[in-house]
Amino acid sequence: MQDWGFYMPTRIRFGWGRFNEIRRVVDELNGKKAFVVTGKDFPNQSDALDRMLKHLQGLPLEVFAEAEENPSIETVDRGAEKCRASRCDVLIGLGGGSALDAAKAIAMLQRNPGSIREYLDQERVCQAKGLPVITIPTTAGTGSEVTPFTVITHKAKRAKPAIAPPQNFPDVALVDPELTMSTPPKVAASTGLDVLCQAVEGFWSTQGNPVTRSLATQGIRLAVENLEAACLRKDKDAVAAMALASHLTGIQMSNIGNTCIHPLSYPVTVDYGVPHGFACALFLPAVIRFNAPAIGERFADLLRLLNLPGIEAFARRVEEFMEKLGALRRLRDVGVKAEALPDMVKRGMGRSTAWNPKPMSEEDLLQICRAVL
Ligand code: NAD
Repeated sequence: MQDWGFYMPTRIRFGWGRFNEIRRVVDELNGKKAFVVTGKDFPNQSDALDRMLKHLQGLPLEVFAEAEENPSIETVDRGAEKCRASRCDVLIGLGGGSALDAAKAIAMLQRNPGSIREYLDQERVCQAKGLPVITIPTTAGTGSEVTPFTVITHKAKRAKPAIAPPQNFPDVALVDPELTMSTPPKVAASTGLDVLCQAVEGFWSTQGNPVTRSLATQGIRLAVENLEAACLRKDKDAVAAMALASHLTGIQMSNIGNTCIHPLSYPVTVDYGVPHGFACALFLPAVIRFNAPAIGERFADLLRLLNLPGIEAFARRVEEFMEKLGALRRLRDVGVKAEALPDMVKRGMGRSTAWNPKPMSEEDLLQICRAVL
């Protein structure tokens, strides 16, 4: 058996209704003034911010409701400046992965100099832990509440690079599945498919270990069993199960990252505005088929658990989900032309592409993109 290790410093509070513990969490961190980072449209999409402000009545705070979807360098730097000026001593990220990533980056920049760009471009390295961060996810998708990753849109490079210094793990993740009930069907579908992608990538990653594979197995099972009921019917148990699946895949991913699908999704989001989860799921069936010769043995137990006869049946099950949830099925449907694919592939190869179970060349990725054109 290979050697392995696992690190997860984030304290977790998970449960339906636990959002109302936010004041206690701030007090436990000895926070005297909070800097709240949330989505720019979020106050009109959910009542969670209003509810939180009521829970925090009496605590000095500032709200930075400016994180756009796939937050940019400019937004993070602006937030970091405001946070410094406000003299807040604790950060609260409230929202989807975009708001949480922005909050983590802003917290880091309070105790590390310069622009977030310099860290993304590897001109600087995070040296110090930032201000304490409380993450409160309102989508069941990214698991960002428990990862050290901060994925930021770098417009000049037309890319979505990430940093993941170990100091960037949030201090407390407060996960209340009820907060995801207000996600509109399209957001629920995209984020739910992101969970499935993350879990599958974690399951087959060459970086995996016994802990991450257990988490990935649970994540896949929960997603397969609950995705439709959570997204299409907002069934309460299914919604809670998807929040758990997202959270477990976040813990798994925090230690081993992804494989080839996440980096490949980034140009699709940056160039064509496709929501993150849909951009990932688009490639999932084709990559399952590509990996089939390398994953048979590892998938045998999982397929039994899912009551599926083989890997091809698993790929078809994913396609059925995508169909039912109205996910993007073809790159050409968002205007991608065949001539754009080579550049998309070049920009869609990341460090984690090498962790795919079957070695993957640029030509292989091009074939996969052609298969979903
Ligand atoms: P998102 O945060 O971009 O949110 C999508 C939309 O849904 C936004 O308009 C948001 O305001 C809205 N929304 C969020 N919660 C809602 C609610 N409860 N009710 C109504 N509307 C709501 O989407 P996401 O998929 O959660 O996050 C995607 C981002 O996370 C991408 O930038 C992706 O790269 C990143 N990501 C980060 C990690 C990580 O570990 N840091 C992992 C995976 C993805």
